[in-house]
Order: sequence, then structure tokens, then C-alpha cells
Amino acid sequence: MRLSTYFLPVLKETPNEAQIVSHRLMLRAGMIRQSSAGIYSWLPLGLRVLRKIEGIVREEQDRAGAQELLMPTIQSAELWQESGRYDAYGPEMLRIRDRHDREMLYGPTNEEQITEIFRGLARSYRDVPKILYHIQWKFRDEIRPRFGVMRGREFLMKDSYSFDTTADGARRAYYKMFVAYLRTFARLGLKAIPMRADTGPIGGDLSHEFIILAETGESQVFCHKSFLEKDPLALGLDYAADLKPVFDDWTHDYAATEEMHDAAKAAALGDDLVTARGIEVGHIFYFGTKYSKPMGATVAGPDGQPVTLEMGSYGIGVSRLVGAIIEACHDDNGIVWPESVAPFKVGLVNLKSGDAETDGMCEKLYAELTAAGVEVLYDDRDERAGSKFATMDLLGLPYQLVVGPKGLKDGVVEIKARAGGDRETLSPEAAIARLTA
Ligand code: ATP
Ligand code: MG
Repeated sequence: MRLSTYFLPVLKETPNEAQIVSHRLMLRAGMIRQSSAGIYSWLPLGLRVLRKIEGIVREEQDRAGAQELLMPTIQSAELWQESGRYDAYGPEMLRIRDRHDREMLYGPTNEEQITEIFRGLARSYRDVPKILYHIQWKFRDEIRPRFGVMRGREFLMKDSYSFDTTADGARRAYYKMFVAYLRTFARLGLKAIPMRADTGPIGGDLSHEFIILAETGESQVFCHKSFLEKDPLALGLDYAADLKPVFDDWTHDYAATEEMHDAAKAAALGDDLVTARGIEVGHIFYFGTKYSKPMGATVAGPDGQPVTLEMGSYGIGVSRLVGAIIEACHDDNGIVWPESVAPFKVGLVNLKSGDAETDGMCEKLYAELTAAGVEVLYDDRDERAGSKFATMDLLGLPYQLVVGPKGLKDGVVEIKARAGGDRETLSPEAAIARLTA
């Protein structure tokens, strides 16, 4: 992509409506534009990041054996009356009437909807176990939308739902999602810590929130420092195996949000206790028959008798993650994207647009890298070098490839790593080899 033609409205000034760094940086880097309170348009750069996150979430769900479908955003109130949540949900639910005066709503979550689908289409115990998921926009009329996409009213969520005929089966599904979540957040460049959680309006008896530590987190969290050293990507990928030992290993050390905090237990950790602010990026629940029972979702068991389905639900805040990753990955100059979610891998900086030799080399590098599948944002504008560097630092692409007349005289270009700032001077061929490796 050439910066001269890209729709990238970078802001020079810090927008004063933004209270936290991720919101400021997302506005300054031209990633989003507010439409109304808690509702945003995703501009091209922001959408690239959102899609990358979505892609990693999807890959890890698929690996764990979950199957993707897509449910609508607008639901019928009848479903929620069946489960008893229509009144319980309160003013966070956006209620709508269609032209026939039927009560509808913009889905804040999909437990009822998926239960209805499964109830209507699954017949026997042979139809389970299943984990179904979708990645779809939700609406919650939050009382205080704030912090940009971190607490929006319209937001993108990945939500999965598991169906089993036994409590044991449901726990196996829970462990699968638990491991998939550890892997997902690690691939996004985050250290997410599973913390025992309150089940809230979703209900049920087993629940974990996945929390990343960041100064601007909305809640106080406490955990053993061992969590900061664990590497989920070292875990195998065998979802057919018994995952209980993995689950036990990741849950036996103390980790709790404020609501579940046990001061005595925490104090016993002494110097091993970490107290920090946290951002919730995922939340998983095992709630058994909470929805299947009132909604009559059963399948025939081996003896032909109906069995009420055991269910769980598993959410990831896909759009919140864009902000959360920036909260965890930035410095004074701007965003520092983990490579896995960066909107482009390389920012190509032409230090002297209009100079034939510099332009020529930039075009060549741009063409060769792009042909090799590397995503390059080429700053081909006629701007001062200082302003180009500031823009690249703000955008936070993992590598800056800097080309100028002075270096070219010696046959070299420069690669700067955005994280850490290491610089390397090398031939254009070596630079291509490095960036395509
Ligand atoms: P919170 O406690 O932050 O209000 P929640 O517990 O109500 O969130 P869940 O129902 O568990 O949220 O939803 C699953 C995930 O969706 C959350 O872990 C979070 O990452 C994301 N999420 C929830 N509400 C919002 C929101 N208003 N804006 C952006 N993401 C959200
Ligand atoms: Mg939650």
C-alpha cells in the first residue's frame, strides 16, 4: 500500500476526548472514527488489525474442534422470554419493534439463539459433543461507554457454545476452550491470566476470566507471579488428549479478580503476589442446563429417553482486543504491534521522494517484498524525513525499511525494529532476505 493514496487520516494533535493511551493512539493512527457514543467505524488500518485478530481467534477455535456458523444480530424477544432473561437483562439490552409491532432485540449474546438452533436440529446423543461458534457484532447499551473500543456499545465478539449429554463431556469442552484461549492470547502477543470468576447473569458454576495486566485496566487483580513466566505455546496441540492436567496446572496458583479476591490466600503468597490492574479479554462459563432446561433442549439418549443438554459458553472480545493489545504494546512514540496482528509488517520509508535513485530502489523493494507476500506500507509522500519517522513510529509496524541517497551511495539501506529500536545497515538484497525470512 502506498501512503500517498491510502485512506489513513493520521492526527498530529492528541484528541482530548480520549482518556487512555490505546484510544488516543487508535484515533491518532487513523484506525477508527466514532459514530456515536460507544459506536465506531473501522477505518482501513484499524480494520486490518481487527481482521488479523479475528483470524487468529478463528484458527485456534478450529484447531480445538469448534465449528463456525453465523447467527444474526437481530433476535426475537420470544427466545429470551423462554429462557427468562428478557426481563432480567435490563436496560443494557437494545429493544426494537418491527413494523408488525413484534418485539425484537439486538443481541448482546447468543445463548438462547444457539440453544434454539440445537434444539430444533439435533436429535440424538450421537449429535454431541459439539462446539459451535460465531464471530458477530453485539450490542450492549452500556451505562458508561468509554475508552474507545475497549468498552463500546457495539462490539465484535467471538462466542462459542458447547453441547454435551454429560457433565464430564461438558467439562472436557471447557478444558478445550481453556487451552484454546491460552494459545490464542499468546499468539496475539499477550500474557492473559485465567482467573476464577463470578458467573454473573450468564449463570452456572465454573467460570474463568482471561485477564491481561495493564495500568489502565478497569479492575484490580491479584495473582501469583508464576503466571508471568508460563508459556502457553509450549503446550501441545492434542485436543483429543485428557486436558485436565493442563487445566489444573494453570489454575492451581492463586489468581483472582476483585470480586473473587481472598485477602488471606493472597497474603500467604508474600513476595510472590502480583497486584495489578487488569483488562478482561475473554470469559468462559460452564452453566450446565441453565438454558437447555427452560427451553426444552434435549436429545434422545442411548435408551431413547430424552436427555437435557449440558452447555457452556465461551466469549472473546475481538474488538476490545485491538485496544487491549495497544495498552500492552506501546511506548512514548506510538504503537508497537506484535508481528502477528500488525496491519503491515514493513514500513518502507523513502527519505528523498523525487530523487531518481532513491525512488527507483524503493519501487524495487516495494515490488519484490509485496511479490513475496510481505505486507508493506510504502511512505512515498513528499515529506520531511523526521515527519515520516514520527508517522512510522506512531503506526507501530514491526520493521521500518529506510532508504536514502546517502546510504545508496554505499549500496546500503537500513532496517529498524520498532520494538527495541535495533538498527541494521545492510544491502538491499540482504534486507529482502531478512524481511521475507
Ligand atoms: P465486562 O465485565 O468487561 O463488562 P462482561 O463480563 O459483561 O464484560 P462477557 O459477557 O463475558 O462480558 O463477554 C465476553 C467478552 O466480550 C468479554 O470478556 C470482553 O472481552 C468482551 N466485551 C464485553 N463487553 C464489552 C464491551 N462493552 N465492549 C467491548 N468488549 C466487550
Ligand atoms: Mg465477563
